Amino acid sequence: MNLDLIQRCRSCASGDLAPVLDLGLQPLANAYREPDDVSTQARYPLALLRCRACSLVQLTGTIPPKLMFDTYHYFSSYSSTMVDSMRVLAKRLTAERGLTADDLVVEIASNDGYLLKHYLELGIPVLGVEPAKNVAAVARESGVPTLSEYFTRALGSELASSGRSASVIHANNVMAHVPEINDFVAGISAALRPDGVAVVETPYLVRFVDDREFDTTYHEHVFYYSLTAVSSLVRRHGLTVADVEEIPLHGGSLRLFIQHAGVPSTERVQQLLRSEQERGVTTDEYYSDFANRVEELKTEVTDLILKLRAGGASIAAYGAAAKGTVLLNHFGLDRDVIDFVVDRSEHKQGLLMPGVGIPILAAEELERRRPDYTLLLAWNFADEILEQQHAYRTAGGTFIIPVPAIALR
Ligand code: ZN
Repeated sequence: MNLDLIQRCRSCASGDLAPVLDLGLQPLANAYREPDDVSTQARYPLALLRCRACSLVQLTGTIPPKLMFDTYHYFSSYSSTMVDSMRVLAKRLTAERGLTADDLVVEIASNDGYLLKHYLELGIPVLGVEPAKNVAAVARESGVPTLSEYFTRALGSELASSGRSASVIHANNVMAHVPEINDFVAGISAALRPDGVAVVETPYLVRFVDDREFDTTYHEHVFYYSLTAVSSLVRRHGLTVADVEEIPLHGGSLRLFIQHAGVPSTERVQQLLRSEQERGVTTDEYYSDFANRVEELKTEVTDLILKLRAGGASIAAYGAAAKGTVLLNHFGLDRDVIDFVVDRSEHKQGLLMPGVGIPILAAEELERRRPDYTLLLAWNFADEILEQQHAYRTAGGTFIIPVPAIALR
């Protein structure tokens, strides 16, 4: 199957598009394989462009979402860092907005209810929207009302007309994944009460480029937002970025507080917009060096791993997430050099990493098998994982952290 390559920006429809990064042909990052599957794995072009008009960085082509999301293997509750930060966020919004039983908190891409369950504990009504049917079913079983649908302009209007407009809409790590982004933001505008706030978290373009987070490029990840680009997008739908915070999640994200137009934006918003101008995120020069710096990283990491391997070391990897698939495939690290990948999610254990065919085992296997080195594919959770793997490291195991630069710990 071929991708439909875009001719125009998905946000502003300008045809003035400039190349940013090309990772060649890559398998779908979440297409884990059964060990007995010998069919050829499909690969698709994976490359980024930037719109010179609104400065939105985006994939050159899009895979139909139905191929990717219906049975995906990601269950948020497995990351303890995320569970903690979501509990804090629910308490904070409830206090700041004075939420009561008369309010409604909607989460788009609500996964297994990892966030909304904290609002339920505080007595605030919730509604999840989660297209992955198996994941939505898990949420409902745990008491979180969940629609198994894609969030669209039509769904947003339907919620409003059926008395279910939202005081707070959460959208964590989803706005980067929806190709029909104008339809999605129009849905937020329709579903949001006049004084409501949409709290949107999305990976931040400046961290992506400056920290060489190339492995967060995958077919599900359509957009790489700067504040400049997102401001232009929401303005088109009668919304404004009222406030913004930079948060460490996923290698550096923006937490955007989006409200109906008319609410003044904070000094933090003005300051970050100015800082993006100063960095040059709206110029070609900012991106011209990025691809070269990614290739330098590839050379450094593969040279180190091949040298260790030649010296007789055993090497595993930690973290069977999408970014792991991208890094292993782009760096050409397969089961000849990496013995196995460990992951805490039992839904992935027993399967093979897409493209490179490396078996996925339980996290406990790291301590049991004690590979000399472990390539940390989940570098965004480095502190948490290094702490959990204290016993492995004390016994002589060493982690290789590949991004933003090689570090041995
Ligand atoms: Zn544009």
